[in-house]
Amino acid sequence: MLEHDVVIVGGGLAGCRAAVEIARTEPGLNIAVVAKTHPIRSHSVAAQGGIAATLKNVDDADSWEAHAFDTVKGSDYLADQDAVALLTQEAPNVVIDLEHMGVLFSRLDDGRIAQRAFGGHSHRRTCYAADKTGHAILHELVNNLRRYGVTIYDEWYVMRLILEEGAAKGIVMYRIEDGEIRVVRAKAVMFGTGGYGRVFNTTSNDFASTGDGLAMAAMAGLPLEDMEFVQFHPTGLYPVGVLISEAVRGEGAYLKNAAGDRFMATYAPSRMELAPRDITSRAIATEIRQGRGIHPDGSAGGPFVHLDLRHMGKEKIMSRVPFAWEEAHRLVGVDAVHQPMPVRPTAHYSMGGIPVNTRGQVRSSADGLVEGFYAAGECACVSVHGANRLGSNSLLECVVYGKLTGSAIASDVPKRKFPEVDEGRYLREAKQQIQELLDRSGENRINSVRQALQDAMTEYCGVFRTEELMRQGIEKLGELQQQAQNVYLDDKNQLWNTEIVEALELQSLIVVAQTILTSALNRQESRGAHFREDFPQRDDENFLKHTLAYYSPAGIDLATMPVVINMFEPKERKY
Ligand SMILES: Cc1cc2nc3c(=O)[nH]c(=O)nc-3n(C[C@H](O)[C@H](O)[C@H](O)COP(=O)(O)OP(=O)(O)OC[C@H]3O[C@@H](n4cnc5c(N)ncnc54)[C@H](O)[C@@H]3O)c2cc1C
Repeated sequence: MLEHDVVIVGGGLAGCRAAVEIARTEPGLNIAVVAKTHPIRSHSVAAQGGIAATLKNVDDADSWEAHAFDTVKGSDYLADQDAVALLTQEAPNVVIDLEHMGVLFSRLDDGRIAQRAFGGHSHRRTCYAADKTGHAILHELVNNLRRYGVTIYDEWYVMRLILEEGAAKGIVMYRIEDGEIRVVRAKAVMFGTGGYGRVFNTTSNDFASTGDGLAMAAMAGLPLEDMEFVQFHPTGLYPVGVLISEAVRGEGAYLKNAAGDRFMATYAPSRMELAPRDITSRAIATEIRQGRGIHPDGSAGGPFVHLDLRHMGKEKIMSRVPFAWEEAHRLVGVDAVHQPMPVRPTAHYSMGGIPVNTRGQVRSSADGLVEGFYAAGECACVSVHGANRLGSNSLLECVVYGKLTGSAIASDVPKRKFPEVDEGRYLREAKQQIQELLDRSGENRINSVRQALQDAMTEYCGVFRTEELMRQGIEKLGELQQQAQNVYLDDKNQLWNTEIVEALELQSLIVVAQTILTSALNRQESRGAHFREDFPQRDDENFLKHTLAYYSPAGIDLATMPVVINMFEPKERKY
């Protein structure tokens, strides 16, 4: 059996930042990072627009309190305000620390870190590296893993969390290269496994964002928090869904409908294109539904709206948002210097996740904790984003809570012993699970079941939701779950068998999809990204609380957890 003092699943920003913190604080600890991709290929690398922090380099009037208020208002008052205070107070420190590690931020003329405007932020506070911010940060963090001697298991798929008697004891992992299975025991397990964008058919996320960490926690009997809150980013490039960063609007681009009107004037007159994402996505979806979308031939009534950069001029486009220009040019043949880009909302981010406290310790219930289990980043819900995340707050969350979680692990682990783990049992069960997949004689293709699931979630649990739609969705998912039991693998080999990985990921997608739908059906109000046409108002009296969903193959049980409100009383949310 392999053993490490700490095993971190996920090589994105959250996992890497935690590893660096542990290595800096307790250099004697033996740390491993496991990732099903190479760490540098984690979705974090694709982050574009930036990371928020009140450095006040371009705006003296900014403060952490203003950042905290914007975040809480953006969250439609569902964020836990103690967690938001930590996030926003720590922000300048973690950004300066990244700079000291060597991250190449874009600069002002005087050499200080440049900052730009972002949706829902009342001041210009988003630090960036052109529109390749995630790339710049992740590369430095991964370099640091090497510097601190962290063991990296890349292209190992983690299949199971070992959780016994309320304590995490390790993981079971599968080497994609040759099918080898290993059990790892550890004094602390941390998940930084990212999001689940692939639950939907149009997403900005990479192929690996299948919610495995969430599903593994759920299958181990732990709750998932606020899963109904799925962020749809307003500007996915039509038809591919790839993200056109909010930085493009931050730098001044306009949204226009078929009539050429800047329609945001109807929905958020004070913020226009820089309204928060939930509001902007609903505005675009409404324009399209009401026939003011655009067709590829330019006529009205089509499936997208325009993101128009032309007035910004070539020099600004090429210096501030070169990657957005390149994407539109490469993927849909649009030259944004001379033509508007076709865009529509795309599934982007998971506000919910594995519930954790501000030390990154995973909760077993509203008032219990799991021993030795931690989570941070997009897979976790410390609830700084509540019902809607502001742009550039997610990289920040990964870095701040990656650091705080790493620091908690470094202080907890030296007091712990290695747990007893029955290696034989876990190996046997994992081998059986893989063999059972290979032996299936079913008739369904993984690809078609996955596509049907993604179509169903987009149709029944997308930007606009109703009870009737979601009930149909739950029924459909039940059928798909049956079909998934009956998938057929063409490749019966153990060498680089990506079908095995896809079959395991399909299980994750189903668990996550069912949890999202069940939580969404139960929340009979509209808040942030969760919009119910049958309950269009926010209902603080009945629903100003977090959802906890406990999955089991027999069904999902729901409970609630109070929201921490200690700075800003809930108000009507207007922009
Ligand atoms: C296109 C795009 C642009 C974005 N731009 C911004 C931005 O400008 N600013 C901002 O604040 N946020 C942005 N976001 C959001 C932000 O990038 C993510 O929320 C954040 O990077 C997530 O980091 P993470 O460390 O939690 O997970 P990820 O970076 O997604 O990493 C997950 C890791 O877990 C591993 N993993 C998952 N499952 C398994 C398994 N079963 N076994 C082994 N390993 C596993 C993966 O291999 C990977 O290493 C953007 C997101 C996208 C998709």
